[in-house]
Amino acid sequence: MGEQVITIPVVALRGLTVLPGMILHFDVNRQKSVAAVEQAMMGEQKLFLVSQRQPEIVEPELSDLYQVGTIAVVKQLVKLPGKVVRVLVEGLERGELLRLSEEEPALVGEIGSLELDEENLDHLTQEAMLRIVKDKLEEYGGVNPKITKEILPNLMTVGSLSEILDQVSIQLPWDYTIRQTVLESSSLSVKYEVVMHTLLAEMEIYRIKKEFQEKVKADIDQNQKEYVLREQMKVIRQELGEDNPLSDSDEYLKRLEAAKADKEVKEKLKKEIKRFSTMPSGSQEANVLRTYIEILLELPWRKCSKDNDDIKHAETILNEDHYGLEQVKERILEYLAVRALTKKGVSPIICLVGPPGTGKTSIARSVARALNKKYVRISLGGVRDEAEIRGHRKTYVGAMPGRIAEGMRQAGVSNPLMLLDEIDKVSSDYKGDAFSALLEVLDGEQNVKFRDHYVEVPIDLSQVLFIATANTTQTIPGPLLDRMELIEVNSYTENEKLHIAKDYLVGKQLEKNGLKTGQLSFSDKSLEKIIHNYTREAGVRNLERRIGDICRKAARKFLEDEKRSIKITENNLEKYLGKEKITFANANEEDQIGIVRGLAWTSVGGDTLQIEVNVMPGKGKLLLTGQLGDVMKESAQTALSYVRSVCPLYGIDDDYFEKHDLHIHIPEGAVPKDGPSAGITMATAMLSAVTEKPVLAKVAMTGEITLRGRVLPIGGLKEKILAAKMAHIEKVLVPDKNRPDIEELSAEITKGLSIVQVNTMADVLREALVPEDGT
Ligand code: ADP
Repeated sequence: MGEQVITIPVVALRGLTVLPGMILHFDVNRQKSVAAVEQAMMGEQKLFLVSQRQPEIVEPELSDLYQVGTIAVVKQLVKLPGKVVRVLVEGLERGELLRLSEEEPALVGEIGSLELDEENLDHLTQEAMLRIVKDKLEEYGGVNPKITKEILPNLMTVGSLSEILDQVSIQLPWDYTIRQTVLESSSLSVKYEVVMHTLLAEMEIYRIKKEFQEKVKADIDQNQKEYVLREQMKVIRQELGEDNPLSDSDEYLKRLEAAKADKEVKEKLKKEIKRFSTMPSGSQEANVLRTYIEILLELPWRKCSKDNDDIKHAETILNEDHYGLEQVKERILEYLAVRALTKKGVSPIICLVGPPGTGKTSIARSVARALNKKYVRISLGGVRDEAEIRGHRKTYVGAMPGRIAEGMRQAGVSNPLMLLDEIDKVSSDYKGDAFSALLEVLDGEQNVKFRDHYVEVPIDLSQVLFIATANTTQTIPGPLLDRMELIEVNSYTENEKLHIAKDYLVGKQLEKNGLKTGQLSFSDKSLEKIIHNYTREAGVRNLERRIGDICRKAARKFLEDEKRSIKITENNLEKYLGKEKITFANANEEDQIGIVRGLAWTSVGGDTLQIEVNVMPGKGKLLLTGQLGDVMKESAQTALSYVRSVCPLYGIDDDYFEKHDLHIHIPEGAVPKDGPSAGITMATAMLSAVTEKPVLAKVAMTGEITLRGRVLPIGGLKEKILAAKMAHIEKVLVPDKNRPDIEELSAEITKGLSIVQVNTMADVLREALVPEDGT
């Protein structure tokens, strides 16, 4: 067509390039463009469509337009509301904008025709290029599935290079700037390069895009997959009728949320719950973990109950529950006062020491009631293994938390009153030291983070009010004793027992056995008889049991005989309790040689001990029987040495001991005995045996002896004196150095008893041996 130039209306396109062969419609609303379209319609319907370099310019000049555009024919024109015209055009050929003039109201341009440059591309080269384009298109289709379906099949059938380049540029959704570059390509090979370059670039972009998408999708998929699997598992489990661990773990998580635990604990539990949720339900491992999680969730952590700090209230309650025990109550109240003022756990902790049945446990329970605290009792009797206090590691089969952690779980609050019952009965063995675990429990510094092997996370025991009980302090190791404030609870006198029975035990037992107050009553004499003839104990436990026995029998009688009321008296007691059980080791009937009554203190109260000595021909040996401990044996040796040293005063020959053996026996041979306090008793018995002087039957004695015959003080005086009284002893010899203890004894205890304080063996012998003249 050579240098052909035509003058036709021009429409500037924004963000759009029309290529020859393209059929498309677009909306026109700029005044000038609308006018251009209208002008074209009046003529040959031809328009020159050229893109603006910058779409935002409203009144473009020549320089704002690309030079190369497309001559197009208007196929259809629709007027839309708002002066918008929608035109359907078909691109015919490339054209070059040579001049632009404004002929009101439209733009008109002189357009020169623009042929592609001639090239020496032979047929084979063109075919090769065609195939390459098709190959790349196929690849492109692989990464962009949209292309495959709609466009690819059409393109694959194209037979010439020039057409495929045009069709690719038209049909692929490329940006107008790329299309502009294609349009401007001066030759077929340039156009080929532009198209190939774009195809490769697009492909790369798609590949990268796909990679990104896949990565994100993989993340989402994983979550999605887990969710779906879980849901499926749930359904399968429901079908199988197994309980659903998923909902369990959800519930655990909910409970954990509500628990007042520390962050460390919560995190640990969360982890365990998550682990649990992935385990097959019913498996051994899941069950172990379930128990663990449940135990931990049941521990109180920081949950507290509110204390009642009113000391007056506490005093009322203690008095309400217990008769007497003035000193004990006073010390407990002082302790509570300090605790209320300092607002924290007071160390050392209280340890109530005394014989069984004297109300130690029940005082602790009263304290809990007074303070409005939860009460838990931990029985330490027979504990030997550290694991019993501290638990077994979770990995052991059947592992459980230790007694302390278990106690906390029972209490359900972190500030209960915890009774460590019978702390003196703990022993140690090769499996580790139960005592050292207890030390940690009772140490205010360490028990904030008490570690239980099973629980694994620290438990705070600092808010717990510990009270311990023990029968004796002898078996408690020093360091543990150091941490405790000892409060002694002594044996009761018969009179005290009578009061306790009348005011507390009878009422308690009546209620326990479903009887009303008026129905069954006890005369004082009957209670005294129960105390004296049916029980023998330091405390009142058996007394309470006997009263309980009577209540049960009475209850039966009420139902069988329709009786209205029953009164228990001295005379009908035997009907209920049978024959008297206790025949007291009464004082000897007559004064005897070589037999002396000693007084002993045991962890279950006081007792009298009859010491017997026999002399027989021999070689000066000392024979000891009756399960005596080392201290007692040494004490016997000391006594013997003393006796030998004083024998000349009694006219005994010097070689007496070379010709005689001495045998000391302490009856009730099966019961182990120890301690130095039988010293003066053994000495007296030996001397009596050797000198054949009788000892007064109604005398009992206690005291340690030295080589030179001095009498040293002893412990447990109250119990011993009570025992003497029970045995109807009239005179008790007591070391002078025990004077303070003697002064503390109430008149009730000493009534009817002559207590003689002795300093030396001479005093003892003077009081104990039957006077020469027989008076
Ligand atoms: P312990 O713990 O010292 O062995 P307990 O506390 O078990 O003794 O006491 C045994 C029973 O005796 C309990 O029922 C208790 O209430 C009662 N008891 C002990 N001492 C008294 C007392 N002083 N007043 C009222 N009841 C008492």
